Amino acid sequence: MQSYWETSTYSAPSDLLIIGSGLTGLLCAYHYAQRFPTRKVRILERGPFPFGASTRNAGFACFGSPTELLDDLRELGENDTLKRVEMRVKGLEFYRSTFNPDDYDFNKRGGWEIFRLSESHIVENAKDRLDYLNQLLTPILNERVYDVDKDINRFGAEIYPEGFHNPHEGQLHPGKLCRLIDKAIRQLGVEIVNGIEIETIENTSDEVILLDKSGFAWKAAQCIVATNGLTKSLFPDENIEPARGQILMTSPIPELKWKGTFHIDRGYFYFRNVENRLLLGGGRHLDVLGERSSERVTSEKIQTELEQLLKTLLPKANYKVDMRWSGIMAFGAKNEKAPRVEALSDNLVLAARLGGMGVAIAPEVSKQAVNLFS
Ligand SMILES: Cc1cc2nc3c(=O)[nH]c(=O)nc-3n(C[C@H](O)[C@H](O)[C@H](O)COP(=O)(O)OP(=O)(O)OC[C@H]3O[C@@H](n4cnc5c(N)ncnc54)[C@H](O)[C@@H]3O)c2cc1C
Repeated sequence: MQSYWETSTYSAPSDLLIIGSGLTGLLCAYHYAQRFPTRKVRILERGPFPFGASTRNAGFACFGSPTELLDDLRELGENDTLKRVEMRVKGLEFYRSTFNPDDYDFNKRGGWEIFRLSESHIVENAKDRLDYLNQLLTPILNERVYDVDKDINRFGAEIYPEGFHNPHEGQLHPGKLCRLIDKAIRQLGVEIVNGIEIETIENTSDEVILLDKSGFAWKAAQCIVATNGLTKSLFPDENIEPARGQILMTSPIPELKWKGTFHIDRGYFYFRNVENRLLLGGGRHLDVLGERSSERVTSEKIQTELEQLLKTLLPKANYKVDMRWSGIMAFGAKNEKAPRVEALSDNLVLAARLGGMGVAIAPEVSKQAVNLFS
């Protein structure tokens, strides 16, 4: 039973309710509040803070490595691949132009795709197609994108001596980025209520009612569902599957040579420096079914694979693994990577399935979601 005071403040109906305070939810609030400054926006988040992938990712500001994009070109064709790259590039540009890059530790150190010693055929094939890829991407980046780097051995690992360098790639601090957007939207009047897990959505022509775990009904004229890897519990028929990504981080390594962002195995493994620690993640492709999970835990199988790769990358360094964690991404059942941005009715919009480069696409996904409302 609520008091009059509560129903006229904390739980009063709003114009827009957003489920989920990850990057997509936060940015939906940002775009909506900019577009409709007098409307009341409230975000409902199950966790004490953003509790999905947005604060648990690797912090790559990236738009695709050569072999990954060549795979996409084969599967999707030029139009869809380029549309996706453009969304990522625009998204990263949005962060840089909206916030001070120093405030979210953005650093354009460049990125590399590197290869194992046994992968010379993959490198040679990709080299043959590099000019074609550069021609396609130059109109989006306004500059040549990828070059062959013939001195990968300077990083001190036993890997293939040639790789690809992309000077446009950078790294960022995802936690700081979320907090910046959080601060910006609160200044626009957006409310964020934490500890609210929505279990059911009821939708009539002029109202959306969200029932939380305690049975309380939150009401609004419109709603955006930004629950990414947890969407299935609200919409079991949606082609959105959870996909866990695991990470480990070493202790500080004073002589660390890997400075930048690095992709290996078509992006299924990735690593970067965080100051002088190495953060290494991925390996989901080695246990696809096991990692189709929304449990925020790590598994011995994937962590062992990560540690094995760490030995190749840091053959002579002294370090220990200081931290391990996982986060939940979302893909389609057949590994579809395109986001699902769709009006499910006149007043209910879905903005989910952000895939593995969701930091980059969240600004465009959320803009598209908000544009679905009149
Ligand atoms: C390990 C890992 C590494 C990654 N690395 C990168 C990278 O380097 N670069 C990159 O671009 N992308 C990366 N990604 C992907 C990127 O993090 C995601 O695509 C992006 O953060 C998705 O944002 P989102 O807001 O859509 O989803 P999320 O951040 O998952 O947010 C969804 C929110 O909804 C909340 N929620 C869910 N269900 C409910 C409910 N029923 N009621 C209330 N709240 C609910 C959750 O608690 C969560 O806060 C990585 C992901 C992982 C897991």
